[in-house]
Amino acid sequence: MAYDADCIFCKIIRNEIPNTVVYEDDVVKAFLDITQVTPGHTLVVPKTHVADIFGYDADLAAAVFSRIPKIAQAIKASDPAIIGMNIVNNNGKVAYQSVLHSHFHLIPRYQPTEGFAMTFTDNSADYTPEQLQQVAAKISAQLSAE
Ligand code: 5GP
Ligand code: ZN
Repeated sequence: MAYDADCIFCKIIRNEIPNTVVYEDDVVKAFLDITQVTPGHTLVVPKTHVADIFGYDADLAAAVFSRIPKIAQAIKASDPAIIGMNIVNNNGKVAYQSVLHSHFHLIPRYQPTEGFAMTFTDNSADYTPEQLQQVAAKISAQLSAE
């Protein structure tokens, strides 16, 4: 299990700093995010220190991701006012990652307008089908090179 002595989530995993635990097993720990963007906002983190999704292999992904549905379902079942959930995973500072130990935000949703919002800009007019094909081909080439 990788440990980074400078990492706040590694310290939370070891209970070296206070935290409000929701669930834990040998692979993940789930605890309440200190900001509580909405009530019940939970972070799911791998117990091994990995900075972001780019550091996962398939085994770690299978182990971590397999825990997420049951934690999400438990959050939803905990309050009948919860009618949806955003699951958010930020990777890199440019993508709003502030803690460099991989984590998944489980943000229960109670109403359309509350502490959490997302914007998806529609840039489809900027691309021809040929350009989209080139973008896809570059990504596909990386996958087939593995
Ligand atoms: P990011 O911006 O990296 O996706 O999210 C990091 C999250 O970690 C933030 O939502 C922030 O509130 C949460 N966080 C940072 N420090 C602590 C802490 O000491 N305890 C808890 N419970 N959450 C923290
Ligand atoms: Zn860590």
